[in-house]
Amino acid sequence: MSNAPLTCCLTFDFDAMSSWIGSVKSMNPSMISRGQFGAVAIPRLLHLLEQFQAKATFAIPGHTAYAYPNLVETIYARGHEIAHHGWVHENPATFDEAGERRILDKGLEAIARVIGVRPIGYRSPAWDLSPRSIDLLQEYGFVYESSCMGHDFYPYYLRSGDRWSLDSAYHFGTTVDLVEMPVTWMLDDFPPSEFVLGMNTGLQPPSQIEENWRADFDFARQRCPDGVFILTMHPQTIARGRYFLMLERLLTYFSGHPNVTFETMGSYAVNWRAANPCADWIAANPDLTGRDAIEP
Ligand SMILES: [Zn+2]
Repeated sequence: MSNAPLTCCLTFDFDAMSSWIGSVKSMNPSMISRGQFGAVAIPRLLHLLEQFQAKATFAIPGHTAYAYPNLVETIYARGHEIAHHGWVHENPATFDEAGERRILDKGLEAIARVIGVRPIGYRSPAWDLSPRSIDLLQEYGFVYESSCMGHDFYPYYLRSGDRWSLDSAYHFGTTVDLVEMPVTWMLDDFPPSEFVLGMNTGLQPPSQIEENWRADFDFARQRCPDGVFILTMHPQTIARGRYFLMLERLLTYFSGHPNVTFETMGSYAVNWRAANPCADWIAANPDLTGRDAIEP
């Protein structure tokens, strides 16, 4: 058992209509309106976060920033972090390099126009990355990325140039100075909650999700000193009745532990990077960097 600190990063992917347009390619106004529920959800969530004095990270596509500038301004004015989340929730791997640059630029332009800042964090829509994404994110100056799953409750540094095939050993690329704030589908509200015909069953009772998330939180708190527990949620999903009440209960549970604090991913990533310089981390983590991997 540990009484060491645990940081809790509450992250909200404010997709609004963009996920139904960019990921699902829907032409259905009913489906699009699910995203419009985001406009109802955001004030509700901001009020909840204020009650717990919790600063959160909102990953926002450029498309959402243009649709809801007032909400995005309010999120930012309340001290929450805004991270890049694509232009219209497209999969970067479906673009060539010029296209991938274009969607990064369009996302940055929209956020700059609405709140006048350049995000230091990037979370890919649906957590899809292209083989060149990590290089581009570094070139664009991002401090952290949050779409990969190579650790559970600690950040790590990403690599550039990994290669794989069916008939050769895994090639580990070069570890680069880009912090990964790791995610997992197990700590995401979308798969267990959101029903999408033919795509996602969702609709799990909140008691079940709550039990799962609490168990992971307890593991992180007890076994991962100074770690980070990252929850990924979608305003249009988590702010509906039963799931909103679940989140309220979970925040009460999390905040009931004296060594648990809420922090934005950006703030955590900056401090972690300062405390764990890339070169030192590489030297201390041969298996996470693939240093000793054999390539016959
Ligand atoms: Zn998203």
